[in-house]
Amino acid sequence: MKVGIIGAMIEEVTPLIETFRRLHCSISQEQLGGNTYYKVKIGEKEVYIAYSKIGKVHAAITASVMIAHFGCEKILFSGVAGGLAKDLKVGDLLIASKLCQHDVDISAFGHPLGFIPESSTFIQADSALNALAHKVAKQMGKNLKEGIIASGDQFIASESKKMWIIKEFGADAVEMEGASVAVVCNAFNVPFCVFRSISDSADGGADVSFDKFLESAAKVSAQFTLEMLKALGYALEI
Ligand code: SAH
Repeated sequence: MKVGIIGAMIEEVTPLIETFRRLHCSISQEQLGGNTYYKVKIGEKEVYIAYSKIGKVHAAITASVMIAHFGCEKILFSGVAGGLAKDLKVGDLLIASKLCQHDVDISAFGHPLGFIPESSTFIQADSALNALAHKVAKQMGKNLKEGIIASGDQFIASESKKMWIIKEFGADAVEMEGASVAVVCNAFNVPFCVFRSISDSADGGADVSFDKFLESAAKVSAQFTLEMLKALGYALEI
């Protein structure tokens, strides 16, 4: 089995790579399309890990390469996000039920916000992977929320923009990559799951909160991703 794990920033994948190094897994690297892909062998199975760089286009490149070039059969995204829902606090973990692009707007032609013809406003995450994530969380005694993730090429750091995204898309969290990974995986019929740990509340203090909590929140998501790999049958003694 080949599972691809994508983060946007180096901080989001470093805890994973460090764990595989500590476990003395065989790791090789390949450069492609401006990114480094780490291939980790765990028994008979493989994991591909890369950080894409920030934003929907970069994440789409990485997801496409993972699937079409490396042959990944499942994609997990691990990273941080701004919390929109009132009950989401820094460090909480969320999986996407479905994802949308909040910055898509061809409403001048009568289309709903976020909608692209021949595509759809929302793309559902894989229900089997999400169910597995809930099972893993239960075993860990960890509180895992599930909700709508809105992605766009903007760091949301204002109460008014935050309220607008909640109103238009009913979103629970906001980030800059998930929906593009969802579009790619959906196009290639590859199951995917998006994990995000909350680094900030997408309000006026989001930049300060993000800088303060990026590393700790990224670790929460990475740790959970490792547990998911175990649940997917990877022989990891973490
Ligand atoms: N500090 C970085 C930029 C971070 S952009 C730098 O200067 O290089 C924010 C990243 O975290 C994106 O990858 C996005 O997916 C996620 N994110 C966390 N909080 C967010 C928010 N409030 N709005 C949008 N994306 C957010």
